[in-house]
Order: sequence, then C-alpha cells, then structure tokens
Amino acid sequence: GAVVLEAEGLTKHFPVRRKGRAGLTGPRRAVQAVDDVSLTLRRGRVTALVGESGSGKSTVARLLAQLYPRTDGDIRLHGETVNVRGGKAFRAYCRQVQMIFQDPFASLNPVHTVRYHLTRALKIHGRAGDDLEQALHDLLLRVQMTPPERYIDKFPHELSGGQRQRVAIARALGADPEALLADEPVSMLDVSIRLGVLNLLRDLKERLHLAILYITHDIASARYFADETMVMYAGRMVEGGDSETITQNPAHPYTRLLIDSAPDPDRLAGGSAELDPGEVPAERGAGEPPSLIDPPSGCRFHPRCPVAMERCKTDLPPRFEVDDAPGHWAACWLYDGAAR
Ligand code: ATP
Ligand code: SF4
Ligand code: MG
Repeated sequence: GAVVLEAEGLTKHFPVRRKGRAGLTGPRRAVQAVDDVSLTLRRGRVTALVGESGSGKSTVARLLAQLYPRTDGDIRLHGETVNVRGGKAFRAYCRQVQMIFQDPFASLNPVHTVRYHLTRALKIHGRAGDDLEQALHDLLLRVQMTPPERYIDKFPHELSGGQRQRVAIARALGADPEALLADEPVSMLDVSIRLGVLNLLRDLKERLHLAILYITHDIASARYFADETMVMYAGRMVEGGDSETITQNPAHPYTRLLIDSAPDPDRLAGGSAELDPGEVPAERGAGEPPSLIDPPSGCRFHPRCPVAMERCKTDLPPRFEVDDAPGHWAACWLYDGAAR
C-alpha cells in the first residue's frame, strides 16, 4: 500500500518541575516519553504498536493526532509536513487522521444520542450532504450496527461497551479519514466482544483501504490482527517488521521477553484465527520499566537485558537489519553486522 502517514524522529519530552523546599522550583527536568520514533502507516495496512505500560504508545498516537505539539521530529501526511497549528492544512490533517480511544464511555457525551454524535461529526467535516438520514444509516451499517433504526436515537448508557466503541468508530468514519489511530480499542471491553471489534477494524481496512495504527499491550493480538508490528520500549522503537516474523522469530531481547512472558506460548504458535486476543494478559516480564526522567544510558533495555554487553551501557544501538526477512530490523547491538 501507498504511504499515508509517516513520522520521523518523533520526540516528546514533558517538562516536570520539582518544588524546592521554600516553594522554589528545582532544576528543569523532563519525562522523555517518546524519543526518536519513526514509523510509516500504509493504505490498507494495520500496523501494531506494542509495548508495556508507560512505554510511550499513547503519546505517539496523540502526537500523530496533533493533540499536542511535538518536541522534535517530523510528521508527514502524503509527504506533506503540517507545521502551522490551526491553519487550513492542519484542519485537513485533523479530518484525515482520526483517533479512537481506549474508553468508549469517556469518549461519548452521555447527554447526547448516537444521532447527535454522528450528525455533529458529519457536519464538522462538511459531509452531511443532502440526505443526512441516509448518511447516518450508512455510518451505522458500516460499523455493523443493524438495523440502524434500533440504535440511532439511543443514548450512550443504553448501549453496551462494544456498541459504544462501534459508535466511536462510526463517528471517526464520519470524517471520511485515511488513517485511524486506535489506542487500545478493545482493552476495556469484555473479552467476549473484543474479537468482533477487531474484526470490524480489519473489515474497514479492507473495504475502505484505511491505514490503521493499532496500539496494544498484547503482542499475540498483533499477530492475529496486524500486518506489521513495531515494538516500543521506554520511549524508543526497538524492533519492527512483518507481524509473522516479529511474533515467530523475534530478534530483540525485549521482544523475546514479551513473548516468553505471554501465558501460553502454544497459543502464539497455533492457529491465529482461533486466537482470542482478550485471553492474553499484559506483559509480565521480569524487572521494572525504567524511569523516563532519567532513562538508562546506551540501550535503554540494558539493565533488564539477559545478554547485555559492555558497549550496551554506553552506546545507543541504531536500527540494524535482521536478515531473516525483508524489512525486519532491531535496535540491538547483537545485530551489528560490522562486529560479527
Ligand atoms: P499505557 O499502556 O499504560 O497506556 P503508554 O505506552 O500509552 O502506557 P504513555 O501514556 O504514552 O504510555 O506514557 C509514556 C510516559 O509519558 C509515561 O511515563 C507517562 O507517565 C508520561 N506522560 C504521558 N503523558 C504525560 C503528560 N501529559 N505529562 C507528563 N508525563 C506524561
Ligand atoms: Fe540487550 Fe545490548 Fe541488545 Fe540492548 S543492545 S537489547 S542491552 S544486547
Ligand atoms: Mg496508553
């Protein structure tokens, strides 16, 4: 698929101030939440962004959604950088890149009906057209809420979590986007309905050729659902490639830890169609993620890495190609061809 959205060197540091004893502010420090992240979203492809809590996944999504400014780096939609916040190009960007949040309870306004939410989305983006009723029905059909009349005048509290998430997706589709950023879209839903929502997203990818970023804790669901997978650790990308390769043949020691700590490795190796992503809990690997205020020098994973070498403590590993599959790379000194 053609490149829709690209990030290069994306960096976000959140300033933190420490109060001194007399209420004076201490030295300026920052949470280095996202550091030098590059990724590409393609038309008709799902890219998973996997990592444990606090690794910076949501910050990447919020940066891509332009919810706050980046500290550094570049974001390009169809090759064009959008720099001026609030300008015409910025508004076009915000229409074309839509976000779906983890919590469908919080993202819908409880005092408004489905009709209100969807009408508003269509109007904001100038897509209400001549036949608003038809446009509303089409949106609900697209997220498989049938018959639409059953849902259109319901309030959020009259819907299940899964139905609410479908309404949130329909609202995003109201903008006629090219990219969807789905931040843990099923993690707050009942296990039994997660697969239905993921299958809906896959259906949208195929029918509308959307470029989808799928953020998850759960590397097993990435294999089931994503074409490509990128693994994030402590604010940095550590490995990327096609999902099959990343889950079957992980190269980076952190990715291996993630997969080894999934409860039942046979499920990862087994038939993906039967896999219920909801059954695989969050990563439970040994050790704690590091502080992002004062992250480890060199490779940020070195304090937890079972095969760390001396240079890992001081030298930041760049991306190295892993030669088992095209496009597979790992930011790890083990793959430094020059050293072998
Ligand atoms: P989770 O899986 O729990 O959702 P995540 O991978 O989405 O985690 P982020 O929410 O992106 O992680 O947070 C990355 C880091 O940035 C964390 O250390 C978090 O505390 C910090 N952080 C996020 N937002 C802010 C903010 N607005 N101000 C200060 N620090 C922040
Ligand atoms: Fe481990 Fe070194 Fe590779 Fe980092 S660079 S993952 S510390 S071997
Ligand atoms: Mg998050």
